[in-house]
Amino acid sequence: MNNAEWGSIYKDLGLEPIINATGSVTALGGSVVAKEVQEGMDLANDVYIPMTLLEQKVGDQIAKILDVPAAYITSGAGSALTLAAASFMAGKDDDKIQQLPDTSGMPNKILIQKRQRYWYDRCMELSGGKLVEVGDESGTTAEQLMDAIDEHTACVHYPVYEQDDKDPNILSLEEVIEIAHSKNKPVSVDAAGQIYPLENFGKYVKMGADFQCIAAKYMGAPHSTGIAIGTKDVIDSISRHSFVGYESRRIRGIGRPHKIDRQEIIGVLYAVKRWMSMNHEERLSIAEKKTFNIINELKNIEGITVKLIDNIIGHQPFGLSLDIDDKFFATNNEKFVEILKNSDPQIWTRVPDGENTIVIHVFGMTEEQSEIVSEVIKRELEVLKL
Ligand SMILES: *Cc1c(COP(=O)(O)O)cnc(C)c1O
Repeated sequence: MNNAEWGSIYKDLGLEPIINATGSVTALGGSVVAKEVQEGMDLANDVYIPMTLLEQKVGDQIAKILDVPAAYITSGAGSALTLAAASFMAGKDDDKIQQLPDTSGMPNKILIQKRQRYWYDRCMELSGGKLVEVGDESGTTAEQLMDAIDEHTACVHYPVYEQDDKDPNILSLEEVIEIAHSKNKPVSVDAAGQIYPLENFGKYVKMGADFQCIAAKYMGAPHSTGIAIGTKDVIDSISRHSFVGYESRRIRGIGRPHKIDRQEIIGVLYAVKRWMSMNHEERLSIAEKKTFNIINELKNIEGITVKLIDNIIGHQPFGLSLDIDDKFFATNNEKFVEILKNSDPQIWTRVPDGENTIVIHVFGMTEEQSEIVSEVIKRELEVLKL
């Protein structure tokens, strides 16, 4: 990276470029397209191709690579969720596809365990469905789920976060699949970040879920892309609800604004191939090194607690938490996040929802930037010392 040029494309617009120390967040543009992926996208750029056939071929190839029945490229994991919900409500019926988001006469309830509510569950409602919570804050029982499923149920939705501690109070995915299928209702899984270890990539469909999404933003594809994986039937249905269905079949489904480019579709294929064949040990050791570049510089400062995040599952390995004791510094965690946002260079970190320490991830930073991050943190803390 040439420092003289770093961020000049944004500086020319009067914007300050950011050092991303918070990981893959959409608010900062999400991710960097891998070089090999960009090359594939460039090759796709100046040739036209029927999108129906391209979606089909690329979906088939990805399904084969992941050993799942079928796959479809979408405009993000969020779009995959919305199209899947549409499919579970309207299926392949063209009249119903065109009726959405009006769900009259269709099953439209999307069940979710109360404790599993999460930021992206709203994407399941955007085609007209309604999320319905099952159980309460203390948990959900098999009986509650069994009782909640009726003729109005479109599907049961289940987000997976393998990197977090298991919640003993919720039903496992295995239990949910068993219960839902015993009542002939499909299960949809949000596994957006579950791409590592590689056996987790596509695992939930292999376990019996009817659909799962993957966020291709996490694996070097354009940030705007995602993958729907599922049974042949569900993926066929998703294709009919999609923007391709709208234009090629002249059936005006809700998927029309979820458009992606042929370049992006090729980009996802290249990204999946790259991800399945890359040296993950090397990827992990680079992330570990960047993390320790920061930890080693900060660990001996009195009045802060620095802890390694010792996780390699999912898309965002390692990282650290930083907890500032306000008896030692004229600041606290929340205020310090703002101070870093206004530092030179500007650095984004965050105190994640429901947590009380600053969390730093190295997903979006170069090794050189990891050194800058630790220098700036040290410099800013020094000024605030009591
Ligand atoms: C990022 C993310 C999404 C949304 O994915 P997009 O590709 O940005 O639409 C959905 N669910 C989870 C768990 C995510 O992390």
